[in-house]
Amino acid sequence: MIAIPPPLRLLIDGHALTANWRALDRMSGTAATGAAVKADGYGLGAVQVAGRLAQAGCRDFFTATWAEAQALAPLGLTVSVLHGLRAEDVPAALAGFARPVLNTPTQVARWREAGGGPCDVMVDTGMNRLGLAAADVASGLLDGLAIDTLMSHLACADEDAPMNPAQRAALEALRGSTGARRLSLANSAGIALGTGYAFDLTRPGLALYGGIARTELAGVIGQVVTPQAQVLQRRRVPAGATVGYNATWTAPADTEVAILNLGYADGYLRGFSDRGSAVVGDVTLPVIGRVSMDLVALDVDAVPDLAEGDWVSIAFDLPTAAAASGLSQYELLTGLGARYGRVWA
Ligand SMILES: *Cc1c(COP(=O)(O)O)cnc(C)c1O
Repeated sequence: MIAIPPPLRLLIDGHALTANWRALDRMSGTAATGAAVKADGYGLGAVQVAGRLAQAGCRDFFTATWAEAQALAPLGLTVSVLHGLRAEDVPAALAGFARPVLNTPTQVARWREAGGGPCDVMVDTGMNRLGLAAADVASGLLDGLAIDTLMSHLACADEDAPMNPAQRAALEALRGSTGARRLSLANSAGIALGTGYAFDLTRPGLALYGGIARTELAGVIGQVVTPQAQVLQRRRVPAGATVGYNATWTAPADTEVAILNLGYADGYLRGFSDRGSAVVGDVTLPVIGRVSMDLVALDVDAVPDLAEGDWVSIAFDLPTAAAASGLSQYELLTGLGARYGRVWA
């Protein structure tokens, strides 16, 4: 096989990742701080993310699926699978590389029947997504199970909603009602609500990767991911000519344009059309016209030396890019596709 260097890459700042985890760990007070690494580490690469965070001291990792947990198995970490235990998952669960987060009475019965062992339990405190009803938890359904963590999940932690204290109180009310070793509630935004939400273990995801779900995290959390793409062609577009699909951008004057190897198939979605930007040195270069599947155009009048083959950084401060594109910070990260090289610095 011939090695083919990809024409687009993610520059990933491993020091920012671990600094973000440490900052969240401080904000979690005496609680332990885990890491949500589902969706391939929010698009960065779960194995790399988990390995680095484990070195920084993180001990609890969360995936959505068993296949995601299996990918981490060579690292020998403590992984919990949030989406529980389907019948199809039992062989994986018995292999011992991760433990299930039991979400339903059926899953509880299935785990007992399979022989059980260490597990976690999700209790629903108002989100009505996954998890047992609080009444089931209090009823003795879980008696005898080896529960490490009894957890719940905040629906509105990025807002100052009355549901936040209500969910906290609902979890607190279950303290002592099971044999669980630990209680856990807060995601990234929940950590920013204060140590009253941290219980024994926090589960940040987004903020590890540079996302800022609440203003308290601005200035605390640093950018981790910068997409970069290569210039495939530079051209002069004469005044009055158009660029891209549907000819939505018309040159107001003769304009220098660079075409980058990046498009919506790489998670750089069409919301960035005429809204996104790239950066070369300290010069900001606006995206012009429609983002295509694999290409995007920039106005590069301001950088006469930028040439075919050069690399350009995409502006990807997550709150700013989310506001520009209309996408959530979560979507921006998890949409980053398989075509990027992933370069850790
Ligand atoms: C994804 C997820 C998290 C992490 O949430 P962020 O908002 O990304 O910090 C924590 N807990 C559960 C149950 C999750 O599904």
